[in-house]
Amino acid sequence: MRHLFLLTSLTAAFVWAGCNSSTTAPAPAASGSSPATNATNPAVAAATTTNASQPAWNMKDKVIKTDAEWQAALTAEQFRVLRKHGTERAFTGALWENHEVGTYLCAGCGLPIFGSDTKFESGTGWPSFFQPLQQGNVGLREDNTFFSRRIEVHCARCEGHLGHVFEDGPKPTGLRYCLNSAALKFEKK
Ligand SMILES: [Zn+2]
Repeated sequence: MRHLFLLTSLTAAFVWAGCNSSTTAPAPAASGSSPATNATNPAVAAATTTNASQPAWNMKDKVIKTDAEWQAALTAEQFRVLRKHGTERAFTGALWENHEVGTYLCAGCGLPIFGSDTKFESGTGWPSFFQPLQQGNVGLREDNTFFSRRIEVHCARCEGHLGHVFEDGPKPTGLRYCLNSAALKFEKK
């Protein structure tokens, strides 16, 4: 039940963020306060409706590739984790022990998804974070494989599998985003 509640509440938050961005064009506040001619110029409309609560990418820019294209673009381990929902063995990834200051990007499409300021020592052997950079940059869905009910975390732009989120993280969120190093690229600040 707790997991289901988490999924429902987090999904609601994500959908809300997604709705905000996908409805920028017909948003009543934006169109009402701007001249009607602005609506014909997507760049102007986007610039005037940008705010911090929106994802750092445009929903129209979803990254969609075939398995063959992903295989050509990724290493075998990245492909296994990102595209086939694989999990790397604990304490074997490149980033679980990374303490550098910087940004963690999706290894599939390069979208910035987590920051070093929300990374913490979970003791699990996987890179762990208590909060994404922006809610709209990661998606959640229920994962019932391996005889357990977990919440899967994926990149919202390319749908690449990143890991899972659990409710035993530190404050302020109480969440633990348990990710695979292979699904991430680290960009030092
Ligand atoms: Zn991605």
